[in-house]
Amino acid sequence: MSQAILQVRDLRVEYETASGPAHAVEFVSFDLHPGEFLAIVGESGCGKSTLLFSIAQLLTYPASTVGGQVLFEGRDLSSMGAEELRQLRWRDISVVMQSAMNALNPTISIGAQLADTCRAHTDWDDRKIAERSAEVLAMVSIDAAHLNSFPFQLSGGMRQRAMIAMALILNPKLVIMDEPTSALDVVAQRSLMRQVEDLRRELGFAVLFVTHDMSVVSHFSDRLAVMYAGEIVELGKTRDVFDRPRHPYANGLMDAFPSLVGEPRELVGIAGNPPSLVNPPVGCLFAARCPHATERCHTTRPELLPVDGHLVRCHLVASGEL
Ligand code: SF4
Repeated sequence: MSQAILQVRDLRVEYETASGPAHAVEFVSFDLHPGEFLAIVGESGCGKSTLLFSIAQLLTYPASTVGGQVLFEGRDLSSMGAEELRQLRWRDISVVMQSAMNALNPTISIGAQLADTCRAHTDWDDRKIAERSAEVLAMVSIDAAHLNSFPFQLSGGMRQRAMIAMALILNPKLVIMDEPTSALDVVAQRSLMRQVEDLRRELGFAVLFVTHDMSVVSHFSDRLAVMYAGEIVELGKTRDVFDRPRHPYANGLMDAFPSLVGEPRELVGIAGNPPSLVNPPVGCLFAARCPHATERCHTTRPELLPVDGHLVRCHLVASGEL
């Protein structure tokens, strides 16, 4: 396989709280290859958005990265200064936020916002900026007439697509997406995802995509990482993880999610709550909710180990007992 474009190594993020540090992301490692689509799924509060923000070097107080490395094309993002990061943003790495309404400036037109990005990062003249702005809007099926529109004049789906146009305007190699479809209805979600997928194939950028809704990525991502309480508990090819989840939490997530094919089946939730991230248990973080937990699970933290082509963090799966 090609050289990874992004290498995340033992990344750790903490939130400062009145009761002590909350361990929001714990020793997360993975590689992302050029043109690859990696989805990160998990329930609210599992650390997936915090992980993306740490990778994009966008964390703000009370969160901070306390360990690990993020290498983009071999260069350590965490050791770069503000100017070096500014050079990289939009040109090499761009970010699409959860809510375009919060990310777009409501007081200036879409065209002016696209132009601001171009002026900050290129030496393009006004004509080139106008041409490229119309071109990227067309890529996401928005008429160039909307260059003069303000964000409030667009529908929710169009605003998200305008954000994607903005993310692609300088042809980045990596697009980081934080639940970009969460505010959309199912039809708009599907159409947005199809558009992202078509553009990824055409332009070749890699995608790192966070969502709590597995159905959003089931048909689009190459690989899937399942997060629980700040850790990756399973990582593998999306189809394999869907067809044969190995970690008990990943298995529970699949049972809680309706399948689009096959016989209708009853959905089963996962009983209990995630552990405290301020005082996490010493053993497996899923032990209190896991129907298979043994004594060892409560005393020893499992490692993420290769099992049948996946990486799985579970003592019983690693020993072949599950
Ligand atoms: Fe369940 Fe034990 Fe595996 Fe954790 S290590 S997921 S508690 S079986």
